[in-house]
Amino acid sequence: MMAELPILSLKRAEITAINRRVKAGDIEAQAQVQHLFDPYPRPLECFTCAAEIDGHPAIMFLPEKKEFEWMMAVPICLECHELPPLMRWAKALKILRKMWPGVHFNFVPPR
Ligand SMILES: [Zn+2]
Repeated sequence: MMAELPILSLKRAEITAINRRVKAGDIEAQAQVQHLFDPYPRPLECFTCAAEIDGHPAIMFLPEKKEFEWMMAVPICLECHELPPLMRWAKALKILRKMWPGVHFNFVPPR
């Protein structure tokens, strides 16, 4: 069976709020993020390396095409999750450029 790569669209404000709670150690917020992709059948596909993910994916938030209000949430595998953030962003950007040729990305990755 082919792995699925669902891409969720979420309000940037919601993501900022939930990230803040996750960083503060809010267990409920952590669970909410961890279960984002529960409705989708396994295996999921890692956005950045296309590896198959059987369990809970790690989540990466990315800019939506030209829409500052919205962001995308994509599943990534643990290996990609553990990459240094700049390498992870470089991989994701490469894919976004393929998805949306000609789009200029102008954003600062979260630290
Ligand atoms: Zn991966």
